[in-house]
Amino acid sequence: MIDLDVHNAFLVSFLLLESSRGLEGHNRSVNHYNRKLEFQQDREACMASIDRNRVLSLAQSLIRANSENPPGHEREVASILRRHLESFGLLCKVVGSSERPSLIFSTGEDLDGNLLLHGHMDTVPAGARESWEFEPFGAELVGDRLYGRGACDMKGPLAALAETMILHSKENHSKPLIMLATSDEETTCGGAEEVVKSGLLDGVKFGVCAEPTSLNILVGEKGLLWLRIVAQGKSAHGSTPELGENAIELCMSALETLLREHYSFEQNEQLGVPTINLGRIEGGSKINIVPEDCEAEIDMRLVMGQDSKEIVGRMGSLLTQQGLEDRVRIETIRSKPTVLTPKDSEIVAATQEAVERVTGAKPSLGTATFGTDCSVLQPKAGIMNVICGPGSIKMAHQPDEHIDVNQLFEAIEVYRAIAKWFAGQ
Ligand SMILES: [Zn+2]
Repeated sequence: MIDLDVHNAFLVSFLLLESSRGLEGHNRSVNHYNRKLEFQQDREACMASIDRNRVLSLAQSLIRANSENPPGHEREVASILRRHLESFGLLCKVVGSSERPSLIFSTGEDLDGNLLLHGHMDTVPAGARESWEFEPFGAELVGDRLYGRGACDMKGPLAALAETMILHSKENHSKPLIMLATSDEETTCGGAEEVVKSGLLDGVKFGVCAEPTSLNILVGEKGLLWLRIVAQGKSAHGSTPELGENAIELCMSALETLLREHYSFEQNEQLGVPTINLGRIEGGSKINIVPEDCEAEIDMRLVMGQDSKEIVGRMGSLLTQQGLEDRVRIETIRSKPTVLTPKDSEIVAATQEAVERVTGAKPSLGTATFGTDCSVLQPKAGIMNVICGPGSIKMAHQPDEHIDVNQLFEAIEVYRAIAKWFAGQ
């Protein structure tokens, strides 16, 4: 929240400073002042229309409906969200199974909007109850903090998006605002995949993912490539290793080559450099047996200029060069492409301006160290995303997860401003 007196004092001194620079500067500063003042009034009107109790009670209901993934039971969360938004006249389309649905809401009759606000309905498991001071599904409000699994990732943010939709639907805009609530984000982004396949979001240009960023802006995320390296040897007694073939040694020599290789990439200030981590290795059964099997798992985080299939192909040829192709194979466990929205994209400009106007602070621009539905929606549906949401990512997936409710309300203002920016195009 901006302290109004300090803010206005700043504007007056800014005005005086600018006016001393001549008429041109004076006019510019008056315009600047008027714009700020208009926004201030607009903002006060906006704040007046947010129904804080409605937002909090929706967030609490969503937290109390356990949707831990795995196993993933989003049905109850989906029905709470759907009932809430349909009671305000919003249109809802359901994609996927009734057990694990994804919901698309619109403020209009159809889905021909420019802007999509999105979040997921599943959460990671609460984990051991004793590591929590607060009840994970109690949704307790203590002071300005709302506690519970999903408070910031992302049931609180979903409540902020729902309120934005309700308020936006009460105004006259030529283009509808679209909201997506997905299932199964935390494990596979499977809900987002089903939504893309449905084609219902075809034509939507821009997206705001409401994952918690403390209202800073993330413009992309590294790609992901998880691989399993499987070595097949031949068993023999430990006293006669020459009669067998040691799978652990085969795996080690393959790993030495694969981990040392330089996989080319495009330099990018936002995304940084790619990484590779050998996270797991398992092989052999007993000290006196030549191991027959060994497997290792590698976690690669990719940047622009890197393609999963090309990397796996390159690894295959390295194994062939080593003569290991018959005994070592590479399996892809999971892959996700790198996504990056250009800094000069309109969605970045609109979000920067909205956050700065609402919070008074310039948001930082960065990239996500975590994965989101953007990695599906951006490459497969062509939606240019930013990630910007209330709450801290440090709280996500942690015991005593919580969100600052004031930031939750600020987020609604931010989303409303972005929605207005794109509503008439
Ligand atoms: Zn999340």
